[in-house]
Amino acid sequence: MNLKHCFITITLFIALHTTVSAQVFTNSDLTITKLEDKLWVVETTDKTTMYIIEGSEKALLIDTGTKCEKLDEIVRNITKKPLLVVLTHIHSDHAGNLDAFADIYYHAADTLLLSMLKPYKGNTHFVKDGDIFDLGDEKIEVKHMPAHTPGSIVLIDRAAGNCFSGDAFGSGQVWLQLWPFSTMETYIQSCKKMEQLMDEGISKIYCGHYPYVKKALDIQYIRNMRILAEAIQNGTVKDPKVFPTRIPGIGGPNPMIATDNGIAIVYEPSKIK
Ligand SMILES: [Zn+2]
Ligand SMILES: [Zn+2]
Repeated sequence: MNLKHCFITITLFIALHTTVSAQVFTNSDLTITKLEDKLWVVETTDKTTMYIIEGSEKALLIDTGTKCEKLDEIVRNITKKPLLVVLTHIHSDHAGNLDAFADIYYHAADTLLLSMLKPYKGNTHFVKDGDIFDLGDEKIEVKHMPAHTPGSIVLIDRAAGNCFSGDAFGSGQVWLQLWPFSTMETYIQSCKKMEQLMDEGISKIYCGHYPYVKKALDIQYIRNMRILAEAIQNGTVKDPKVFPTRIPGIGGPNPMIATDNGIAIVYEPSKIK
């Protein structure tokens, strides 16, 4: 083996080893991958997403995915620290395994949506803008970002520069066509609030359907979203199209989709003002 071959072999080994060691768990429902120190992404086979953050005292599970057998035990394989469970918002693809957990945290404005799911028998706790989940060396801050749902929140890790956004800004495409419908102004204000946080040092947005993007979203993504939302609001949006999918139970009757700069907003035209 000459030097060049040796180099290629070593490079391949490192690449392979890095990929394999990053993925820490997999079964027929989901795959868990280590993203950063003390941070894991849980991707379900139907493309929903959870995140696990481990602090020195406690751990935080962000969202509970769709149907995943023994999710609590699986999370226990990743961290043994006392676990807090927070929902970015109440939709069935983010709150599908609540029964596995005795306590959940969410924003009170999504209580109506919770009542539409299978009854949850555990203890519910409300969070509000500015609340902190104290995990010991990790402090995770709640920011209210309504529009996708009235109670949508994001979780901010200022030390790591991370934001966990659920569906508040979508995963390439944000859905605003869902009951009980927010105004486009509400979404624009949430985008501005997120831009402000990014000006203050948040650089990575880990979205609620990570398998679609496979990376953290950046400030340009949020800017593009705000600019497109403003165009929809003031009637200058170019070439909106009929959105072909109706969402049973909570979707508006005539959804449209507007696209620009690689991002998209789905909205119900009669409900944006
Ligand atoms: Zn959602
Ligand atoms: Zn979702």
